[in-house]
Amino acid sequence: MTLSRTDIARASLTDRYATGLRLNKEWAAQTARNQPELFPTLASGQTPQILWIGCSDSRCPETTFLGLEPGDVFVHRNIANVLHPGDLSSSAVIEYAVQYLRVNHVVVCGHTSCGGVAAALGNKNLGILDPWLFPLRQLRERNLKLLQSMPSEEAAGKLAELNVREGLNIVKQKSVVLNAIRERGLQLHGLIYDVGSGVLSELDTEDSEEVIRARLTAFHTE
Ligand SMILES: [Zn+2]
Repeated sequence: MTLSRTDIARASLTDRYATGLRLNKEWAAQTARNQPELFPTLASGQTPQILWIGCSDSRCPETTFLGLEPGDVFVHRNIANVLHPGDLSSSAVIEYAVQYLRVNHVVVCGHTSCGGVAAALGNKNLGILDPWLFPLRQLRERNLKLLQSMPSEEAAGKLAELNVREGLNIVKQKSVVLNAIRERGLQLHGLIYDVGSGVLSELDTEDSEEVIRARLTAFHTE
């Protein structure tokens, strides 16, 4: 197929990559005008307070929907915000953010209408995505009765929530995280982002003091 000049011109007007490159120049100039200190400060280093673990979904740009700025959020995103205990990538991000950047908050955030969660509720063969989604399918099996008792949209929301709780459990098993909770009060949070409204909801995930103390004791007697 040969594109006409008009097709090419129209594509360049609507292509989001080309648009993004153009808008970047405007954004950089406007930000430099409005906040002259921001870029020089960022160029000298980062001191984010938040580590964000979320889904790669294009509708979930955490810094944008938090209303924060470059430098505020250290980020790890993958398909369906799944935390595999032995995953080198997420483990390195958590270690670096907690140990060296000394973030104050670790967030695991799921979202509504998550394609990864919907896929995990089904049994389609998805190639490399199958081993990636395996922990989600395990969660589904462990909670099958509950999930089967719900309409499909509600079941997807519940599985997204269970996945966030499971992710937080994996984060809490890391020694660097337990040390930071004990030594400087690092806080962990579970959130669900509603892509249909733009609103975040906090899950009730606070461990009691006793549970955290028990984990710390177990860790330090190993
Ligand atoms: Zn997702």
